[in-house]
Amino acid sequence: MAARRRIVAGNWKMNLDHAAAVALTEGVAAGAAGCSGVELILCPPAVYLEAVAAALQLADGNSPSGVTLGGQNMSDQPKGAFTGEIAAAMLLDVGCRSCILGHSERRTLFGETDEIVNTKTKAALAAGLTPIVCVGETLEEREQDRTAAVVSEQIAGSLAGLSAADLARTIIAYEPVWAIGTGKVATPEQAQAVHALIRQQLASLADADTAAQVVIQYGGSVKPDNAAVLAAQPDIDGALVGGASLKADDFLAIASHFAAAD
Ligand code: PEP
Repeated sequence: MAARRRIVAGNWKMNLDHAAAVALTEGVAAGAAGCSGVELILCPPAVYLEAVAAALQLADGNSPSGVTLGGQNMSDQPKGAFTGEIAAAMLLDVGCRSCILGHSERRTLFGETDEIVNTKTKAALAAGLTPIVCVGETLEEREQDRTAAVVSEQIAGSLAGLSAADLARTIIAYEPVWAIGTGKVATPEQAQAVHALIRQQLASLADADTAAQVVIQYGGSVKPDNAAVLAAQPDIDGALVGGASLKADDFLAIASHFAAAD
């Protein structure tokens, strides 16, 4: 079987302004050639998607640098009276190929349940977007030795009803909540153990071949100086990067570790 794809995505969250978003995009695009073998995705705030698409010179979702565009969130509804929401088709329309779904900030600050993440995941897939589905335990859950149970429930709920073909198109991001934006990164062993469990669960939801194809990213304080050991783990296929994705050099340095790990 071919090696799994390696994918590093930058989640810019609610940061930057128009000029900084364009400058960061240009910096990433200029250095992307140095990370061959790794797919790079930029997920800017929604109002800057078109500016980033222009800076990437996107046409039909493809750019000369190979960098693609993703959303940070989307509605589970296709269109209509949903003030403030963005539909999957709209993300596609401005050049997105993917969308982060169920990020822990969406789950904890905006009340997104596994059921909501599941409807959004199905809506993304139906529209032709790649969902990046986030799961992860809190510190309390880890300390209570409930990591496996919590992550497995999130995976089962968020991916319920997906066909094997849809699962193969889905990216999963394991992001321990205690590691997001805190500077505390999971050890490579901790991360690998959860990634392996997720892959096992995917095999039971679909089959071993499908599970072997699914890209599982790690997220949570990934930085240039800790990316290499994470990238060396057999079931860690990329990273979802928050803070360090706001500096082109750091983002590219992280991606280069995933390129080098092949
Ligand atoms: C994230 O927001 O998905 C994330 C992992 O953030 P950070 O890299 O800043 O921990």
